Amino acid sequence: MSASPFPYRILIVEDEPSLRELGTMLLVAQGYEVRGAEDGFEGLAALKQSLPDIIISDLQMPNMNGFEFLSVVRRRFPTIRVIVISGEFSGLSVPQSVLADAFFPKGGYNAKELFQKIIDLLHELPTRPKIGKPSHAAVWVKNDRGTIAVTCSECLRTFPVTSVTKGVNETECDFCSSTVRFEIIGEHKAFKVPENLVSPAG
Ligand SMILES: [Zn+2]
Repeated sequence: MSASPFPYRILIVEDEPSLRELGTMLLVAQGYEVRGAEDGFEGLAALKQSLPDIIISDLQMPNMNGFEFLSVVRRRFPTIRVIVISGEFSGLSVPQSVLADAFFPKGGYNAKELFQKIIDLLHELPTRPKIGKPSHAAVWVKNDRGTIAVTCSECLRTFPVTSVTKGVNETECDFCSSTVRFEIIGEHKAFKVPENLVSPAG
């Protein structure tokens, strides 16, 4: 149990209900206050209500996936620690320096390791030398998605864009007129981008 009267808060973003519930149950038993979200959109909605200390996120999710979600989180809430749990990568060739503070392959870790990582991240000094704040959010586009939507890292609202170019794009947020910079890092029917998932920092 947590010694603090104010438990640390954890947000779990995972589209598979059984995994979300299992994670919630295990972490509540450790004394954390846990919220669940089933995709990136729900995750952003949860962030608007209260900020967690730690986010645990899947990568492949419908609607807004983890790549998009975390790149917005990194830009807008750079102090929140992020753990990615995903079946997407087999090795450690994950762009963890940009997307996350820690990575666990789905099914390739045990609860004790996760608990220890959470404790380590919570005790880290406020400065995290390895984590940069990306200058723009990455957008992961799948072939089955007809339109490209970007999420404003200021107001956290999502709007469609009609034309994109390879590399970093700049557009004005439909809602708050902030400048939104983004880069397509997935596949789009107009072009194919190499499998480089890293949204360049700085
Ligand atoms: Zn905006």
